[in-house]
Amino acid sequence: MECPKCLGDMNLVDDEVTAVSRCNHCQGLYFDLLTRQNLDEVAARIHLDTGDESVGKEFDEMVFVECPKCNQIMDQRSVDDPVQIRFELCVSCHATFLDAGEYRQYMSDEYLDAFRALLPPV
Ligand SMILES: [Zn+2]
Ligand SMILES: [Zn+2]
Repeated sequence: MECPKCLGDMNLVDDEVTAVSRCNHCQGLYFDLLTRQNLDEVAARIHLDTGDESVGKEFDEMVFVECPKCNQIMDQRSVDDPVQIRFELCVSCHATFLDAGEYRQYMSDEYLDAFRALLPPV
């Protein structure tokens, strides 16, 4: 699969809760399905986020990101208060893309509830 952000190669790194692919170049993570329903199970897999957050930040600015499955522009989901969160969600298939370091950050106690609120219910 091609990375929707940097067009690098993505490899499947996990298939326990949902298929997760990691980009060899920007180290971003693509989740096949991420919803409020499976978030707690997915949150237990943060060891998959091995990338450097400074690399992830470079790619966080990208706005037009195409879902590799649906080939349509993914929605930007963001919130600024009480914490800053920004990521891409495909409204059609509920796939999610997180830049390197974002997965570790958003699954922490401080961020988790705000992140959950931005996800589709199922
Ligand atoms: Zn990439
Ligand atoms: Zn999609």
